[in-house]
Amino acid sequence: MTALLRPATEILEKLVGFDTVSRNSNLALIEWIARHLAGQGVAATVLKSPDGTKANLFASIGPRTDGGIVLSGHTDVVPVDGQIWLRDPFRMTSENGRYYGRGTTDMKGYIACVLALVPQLLQARLKRPVHFAFSYDEEVGCFGAHGLVDHIKAAGIRPHMAFIGEPTRMQVVNGHKGSCGMLTSITGRSCHSSRTDLGANAIYAAMDVVAVLRRRAEALEADPSDTMFDPPYTTVSVGVLNSGTARNAVPGDATIQWDIRATRPGMLDPIRQELDAEVRGRILPALRARHAGAEIATETIYDVPPLTPEPDAEAEVLAKRLAGTNDATTAPYGSEAGIFQQAGIPTIICGPGDIAQAHIADEWIEVSELESCLGFLARLVKHESAS
Ligand SMILES: [Zn+2]
Repeated sequence: MTALLRPATEILEKLVGFDTVSRNSNLALIEWIARHLAGQGVAATVLKSPDGTKANLFASIGPRTDGGIVLSGHTDVVPVDGQIWLRDPFRMTSENGRYYGRGTTDMKGYIACVLALVPQLLQARLKRPVHFAFSYDEEVGCFGAHGLVDHIKAAGIRPHMAFIGEPTRMQVVNGHKGSCGMLTSITGRSCHSSRTDLGANAIYAAMDVVAVLRRRAEALEADPSDTMFDPPYTTVSVGVLNSGTARNAVPGDATIQWDIRATRPGMLDPIRQELDAEVRGRILPALRARHAGAEIATETIYDVPPLTPEPDAEAEVLAKRLAGTNDATTAPYGSEAGIFQQAGIPTIICGPGDIAQAHIADEWIEVSELESCLGFLARLVKHESAS
């Protein structure tokens, strides 16, 4: 058993105790981490969200030079609503070589391992800095990570690489699809169903919008060329269509929530442009012919960029070496990794736990996964030390 397991366990127990479901504030947890670091002489920068209710945390250890390695994770967790838990989700328990609690796998376990590493990092003669970057609101659209990347840019740090500790069972993940949440809102005019001549039916317009998206989705499906992903193409999917109040009323409003999972950068614009052209040229004029004030608007709710493999970048080369593997794989889920990569920082994902245990009732992580992660991080410290 590694000596770091006990402090990592104590920290994880503390972190799980904060109910940081994304809709809640994470400030208490961030303040606890800041105090924990301050107690060891490490100053942390707390970066508040625009409304001040949440925060990212950024801290650096080692020489005050450019570059270095970012170790990053998100502090928020998914809700437990509607799940049947046999245990208190926000009180960590230990059983049969597993730690149970919301966030143990996704991804407070990784943050606990990183924080447990602080004494080693402080003792080591680091050749370049190691940065901690902990975010808020990852689970609801990776909103917090942008503030971290902006801070890194503004501080002129230019890290050499970033490791994101999402659960991969300590496998090196070098790619995932992007995840883009879209909302199309349609405003027609409602009226009694006996006087359809007076209304502009928003459901009919919504059907036309959905038909465009479906046609596009089928065209993308017909070209399965991005073989590193499953499925090997960009997906477009309509998830929610809200409209209507009564059988005998023409609906005046409709909203469509739809989703794009892009295999690479540059896929979103053509999809948006095709929809915009169809709306402008055909769907909106038809609606306006019935009601001059009709509107159709599409907005991006979140845009999590894809992570594109960079097999020759130092991030992947070093991560493989530390993980003792020659292989890298792709993940089926989105993460903050693409946001760091988009900012010019080579990035990979490697963290403890299995994604199969994330987001579920009685979420758990194997203790051995934390030990693997601590081993990986200890090798990182050794690699980054002058002697
Ligand atoms: Zn996560």
